[in-house]
Amino acid sequence: MTSLVNRLEAPPRYIPNDPRPSLVGLTRQALADAMGRAGVPEKQRRMRAGQVWHWIYHRGVTSFAEMTNIAGDLRQRLDESFVIGRPEIVSEQISSDGTRKWLLRLSPDERGARHEIETVYIPEEDRGTLCISSQVGCTLTCTFCHTGTQKLVRNLTAGEIVAQVMTARDRVKDWPRDIEANPNPPPAGRYITNIVLMGMGEPLYNFDNVKDAIEIISDGEGLSLSKRRITLSTSGVVPEIPRAGAEIGSMLAISLHGTTDEIRNRLVPLNRKYPIAELLAACRQYPGLSNARRITFEYVMLKGVNDSLADAKRLVQLLKGIPAKVNLIPFNPWPGTQYECSDWETIETFAEVLNRAGYASPVRTPRGRDIMAACGQLKSESQKLRARERMALEAGA
Ligand code: SAH
Ligand code: SF4
Repeated sequence: MTSLVNRLEAPPRYIPNDPRPSLVGLTRQALADAMGRAGVPEKQRRMRAGQVWHWIYHRGVTSFAEMTNIAGDLRQRLDESFVIGRPEIVSEQISSDGTRKWLLRLSPDERGARHEIETVYIPEEDRGTLCISSQVGCTLTCTFCHTGTQKLVRNLTAGEIVAQVMTARDRVKDWPRDIEANPNPPPAGRYITNIVLMGMGEPLYNFDNVKDAIEIISDGEGLSLSKRRITLSTSGVVPEIPRAGAEIGSMLAISLHGTTDEIRNRLVPLNRKYPIAELLAACRQYPGLSNARRITFEYVMLKGVNDSLADAKRLVQLLKGIPAKVNLIPFNPWPGTQYECSDWETIETFAEVLNRAGYASPVRTPRGRDIMAACGQLKSESQKLRARERMALEAGA
């Protein structure tokens, strides 16, 4: 059964139109500089930044008052100058399978607009995956993806990316103190063990903020999710892939979806700019690949479009020599789509060809379908409402 919680009993720290900037999302150096703005003498800035970092990212506090090893007058100055920002939780939906989806409203941008994004938590027996967004909407227009139909687009700040992880930790009670106090700790030790940048947006079109966010999320003195457990998914922004390898160093997932340029052009229009051969050449160069560190190739199963036996065989040929695994994703339909999901037997036959060629290819069971939380279904409801309202207004004009 789906449950929708609208007004949460413990509202996150959010003050509309608060002029104070948030400390969440600042790199360690930027945080030390911020200490300077709150009057901390230069020699103490790094030390104070380290303390504040620990409170924000390890302890998960939402107020300066809780930072008990910092003197009261500095706490007050910090409180006058900054906030520890969390987005506003507009709604929290919980699927019958335990998947949770949050609709988050961001602080106003420079034009005063308050955008919304979605974050999804997928609990499994041996892991818990948090799927986070990197942009509001997406500038790309993959024809099978709901997010790609959303007109409104802007990059998320590093703080807005990191705050999704912090909000999820608040809601599933996954801070170290919660786990320590928990009489039934989760089997994997934590509730959120993996992060995937597979929500809304193309992360490599928001490179710098994504890079800072991953640096913060993987910092061992804070949120502490190792880069091996963080996967960046791209539709194939080829020139940024070597940079991602050199500067970000997370795991990589490629949204392939087609085995010929003709098919992929139709599904992922970016392929016209960066065709399959160039994309796979960039993958071959990705640093640190081995059997234990593979690239994930995502492949959405679309009936009669990319799901033939010939496609499966071509896929095996294309991936030759790349340490790879394949995620076959049953297509998740959305209102108005032209596609259908492949039949179950077709998916099984396809997976068998890959398995026989030595590629582990789990079929990703769709999760949270009842709350439209599955891959490619994310598109904020309020955006749709606004569009509908606009249409009504236009019709009336
Ligand atoms: N923009 C990035 C990351 C976000 S999309 C990318 O494209 O990789 C995350 C994954 O969901 C991608 O593999 C995308 O192709 C897939 N996806 C999009 N729409 C889908 C749908 N309707 N059904 C199943 N998977 C979908
Ligand atoms: Fe954007 Fe990824 Fe959707 Fe394509 S699949 S429109 S790149 S979010």
